Amino acid sequence: MKIKAQISMVMNLDKCIGCHTCSITCKNVWTNREGAEYMYFNNVETKPGIGYPKRWEDQDKWQGGWELKNGKLRLRSGAKLTRMAKLFYHPNQPELDDYYEPWTYDYETLINSKRKNHQPIARPRSLITQQRMEIKWGPNWEDDLADGQSARQDVNLRNMGSDIALEFHDLFMKYLPRVCNHCLNPACVAACPSGAIYKREEDGVVLVSQDGCRGWRHCIPACPYKKVYFNWKTNKAEKCIFCFPRLENGLPTVCADTCVGRLRYMGVLLYDMDKVKEAAATPDKGQIYHSVLDIIMDPHDPEVLAAARKEGIPENWLKAAQDSPVYKLVKEWQVALPLHAEYRTLPMVWYVPPLSPITRRAEADVYLPEATDMRIPLAYLAELFGAGNTQVVARALQRLLDMRLVMRAQTTGDRLPARLEFDVETYQA
Ligand code: SF4
Ligand code: SF4
Repeated sequence: MKIKAQISMVMNLDKCIGCHTCSITCKNVWTNREGAEYMYFNNVETKPGIGYPKRWEDQDKWQGGWELKNGKLRLRSGAKLTRMAKLFYHPNQPELDDYYEPWTYDYETLINSKRKNHQPIARPRSLITQQRMEIKWGPNWEDDLADGQSARQDVNLRNMGSDIALEFHDLFMKYLPRVCNHCLNPACVAACPSGAIYKREEDGVVLVSQDGCRGWRHCIPACPYKKVYFNWKTNKAEKCIFCFPRLENGLPTVCADTCVGRLRYMGVLLYDMDKVKEAAATPDKGQIYHSVLDIIMDPHDPEVLAAARKEGIPENWLKAAQDSPVYKLVKEWQVALPLHAEYRTLPMVWYVPPLSPITRRAEADVYLPEATDMRIPLAYLAELFGAGNTQVVARALQRLLDMRLVMRAQTTGDRLPARLEFDVETYQA
């Protein structure tokens, strides 16, 4: 057992109101400069939706024309490459247009501009889908101005077929805040030919050395979450740094500190380094979540603590791991899940999936996985947070629902369901 410490974050999606405060405060601190105009280390997407950069979840698109054969990178037959890919012998790179428009927000304009009838207005772009359909696109387009077409398209592209045959009246919407996941098996680190990207020994934060980066850009398509950006001014890669200068001074990240919904929890997880490789290679994608949980170790276990001390993890970090809400949410209660675990980078940012709105009042003894009247279809949530495994998400939702019932019963005296997924005593303790 080789124990390492990892700074992690849990986001409770039921509480996100899509205000974008996190994106703006992050932007003002880290990417409000030339060459970084289009970058959002933190962005908030409307889901279902096309995302930022557009279609970032479409992994086939980014691997594009290249495949590894006999240890060599070759062009797949019939592959279509973007201009950047042809120039740099790369998998497909997102281009500036894939991120929509760069940052133009200016407080002076806001304060001094004359009143207009229609402002502000986001201009839609056209996107031609593989089915040759034209849909409108822009960041958060589905939320702000869309007619639902692109949201329906997004669900359809996920091949959910009749599971989710979306009609206009049952469209749903939710927000997904995204930062770099500071993965345990980071693809960006593996892809960098210069060795410029590294995972910090002490806290697991993944950083790009600006001195070491030679601008190869292999990290950008390699990251399945598209959370590495290219600075056109410095010709270097940049990414979310988990606000490490703040962490080193005992402060949370800017996005967590300024979150209006108070939905971000930060904490320390202890994990077993020896199990990382095996977990990433779990053959059944629906089981990867369980493999990731296996790596996360109990910070109260004396054997784990002894192994952690042997690795030089300081006492205040061990205390932080023990007190951490992140450990409880991730491992003890298993209500926080990784985004797209099937990408196998073992992401360390976790999400409590949204429970609401459910269309029917939860009745005693109704077991949620059997309930078909969830507003956000279980299959859709499972595709995002359960690597397709609906049981993983259903159990998390059931526990959240139980937690809600227990809390309500404490004030109303309502009868509790006979079957609770959630251990009331653990929660009350
Ligand atoms: Fe690297 Fe992407 Fe994982 Fe961040 S999310 S550590 S950029 S692979
Ligand atoms: Fe959501 Fe918080 Fe960001 Fe607002 S600040 S969009 S509530 S994560």
